[in-house]
Amino acid sequence: LQKQVKKIDYVFKIVLIGDSAVGKSQLLARFSRDEFNVDSKATIGVEFQTKTLDIDHKTVKAQVWDTAGQERYLFSFTHFPYRAVTSAYYRGALGALLVYDITKRESFDHMARWLSELREHAGDSIVVMLIGNKSDLGSLRAVSTEDAKEFAQSQNVFFMETSALEATNVEPAFVSVLTEIYRIVS
Ligand code: GDP
Ligand code: MG
Repeated sequence: LQKQVKKIDYVFKIVLIGDSAVGKSQLLARFSRDEFNVDSKATIGVEFQTKTLDIDHKTVKAQVWDTAGQERYLFSFTHFPYRAVTSAYYRGALGALLVYDITKRESFDHMARWLSELREHAGDSIVVMLIGNKSDLGSLRAVSTEDAKEFAQSQNVFFMETSALEATNVEPAFVSVLTEIYRIVS
């Protein structure tokens, strides 16, 4: 069988950030392979996943970086030598998914610090989407949609609630960020 090779028009790097266990790796697994691994550790060690999709009749390759458990290094940006790791992770990123867990208030309270770290390294023009993940766990909710919307507006970033488990809003979240990047660079 001959495989059709499609010309790639754009490659956009996107980074996933947020506290450990909020569901970043599962969001990536859902987006790139339409999978959800009950044993999350299976995805450790992969630096990034790619997915190619069409945006405005162009072929866009999303290169999505996942932290593979280095969150505490990224988050401790004042501590040498982790700055180098942090810089490499953010370098060249055009978009970011800033992820918290709707059942973990602390993960939402950390968003401001993640955002300032992101902007320090990736610049102010990076496209950012705030993501409240695990929307399937509504009965355990600790962060209201209103609070998150308000925060997103105050920071001038997009916002969506997702469930990697139920595949709710995952593709739309990534596609929104990619489309906005495309709008800016094209
Ligand atoms: P990471 O540390 O941010 O990469 O988080 P993981 O993707 O490893 O997920 C952490 C835990 O949350 C795992 O037990 C996942 O199965 C679970 N998880 C991730 N996304 C969801 C979701 O949308 N809904 C629910 N209920 N659990 C999720
Ligand atoms: Mg992970």
